[in-house]
Amino acid sequence: MKKKRKLKKGAFLLALVLILGIAGITVYFTYDLFLTDNSPQEQEKSALEKLEDQGIKPVSKENFVNEANTLLSKGYTPDEINQIYEYMSDKNILAILDAPYKDLKEFYKISNFEFSKLERYISYQENNNVSMQDAVTQVNLNLDEKFYETIETISDPDAVTVLVNKSHALPSDYVPSNLVSIPSYPNYQIREEAVTDFENLLAAAKLENVFIIPYSTYRSYDKQNKLYNNYLNRDPVEVVDTYSARPGHSEHQTGLALDVRSSTLSDNLTDEDYEWMLNNSYKYGFIIRYPKGHSEITGYQEEPWHLRYIGIEHATKVHELGITYDEYYDLYLTSH
Ligand SMILES: [Zn+2]
Repeated sequence: MKKKRKLKKGAFLLALVLILGIAGITVYFTYDLFLTDNSPQEQEKSALEKLEDQGIKPVSKENFVNEANTLLSKGYTPDEINQIYEYMSDKNILAILDAPYKDLKEFYKISNFEFSKLERYISYQENNNVSMQDAVTQVNLNLDEKFYETIETISDPDAVTVLVNKSHALPSDYVPSNLVSIPSYPNYQIREEAVTDFENLLAAAKLENVFIIPYSTYRSYDKQNKLYNNYLNRDPVEVVDTYSARPGHSEHQTGLALDVRSSTLSDNLTDEDYEWMLNNSYKYGFIIRYPKGHSEITGYQEEPWHLRYIGIEHATKVHELGITYDEYYDLYLTSH
């Protein structure tokens, strides 16, 4: 009898221990789940929420929280961090994480900076000894690629400020609608907008004993095509491309370009006449489109004889800045 009672007591104690044990474990886990956030997932979640509170959009990427916090500690604003994750490759994000903040900040201040091209700017700047501003402008002009690699068809060919170069082509059927003869040289045609200013330029030059004669003005797409192909019979393509535009890429098709010569030469300007042109043509709305020392930007050898009409206001600014029209166009006439 005594033994039986002892057994009952033992079973009761065992049950009690089990019940208390289960209850204890339950309390422990409940506490852990609801009252603490010590698990790695919880920590990650709350860190992400902290970033979101500051305006940083979460990105599903391993290590995002760490990276975003590193960028914050480097001084990037939440907006900048959002842009970085929107546009950049993983490779460049790693590069930025290693780089000081100023390297990127300077890009943000550049007016013609386009974030989607940031990777190209960074690698262009690494490979060329240029300022960040120049890296941006030159990449915008596709100079990080081979000439003629990317070609955009011009949508506003009638604009007096139209940019025609190796990456901006005129439609093959484009013919200016207002070509007129130059009164003093009726065999040559240019756009009506440029005629009076050209006559004024000739008159002003004459007063200073500079005698200029036009010898090639408007050229159709077909004429440029024949010209370019004739040159190909003479020189390899890499050479021809430095002195002749491929069809669609010639400013002569706009009716706003003129090749002029000194009265004493058949196809060029004397040094004195060129000097006069450099110092004065802008007053009449004309620029020397392919000046000396800018071949890497324009893609052409120096052409003292090639004038391009862009109007007095813009020609004056291009003259004052001493930059090519390609750069001027990207800096001041394109929206970014
Ligand atoms: Zn020309």
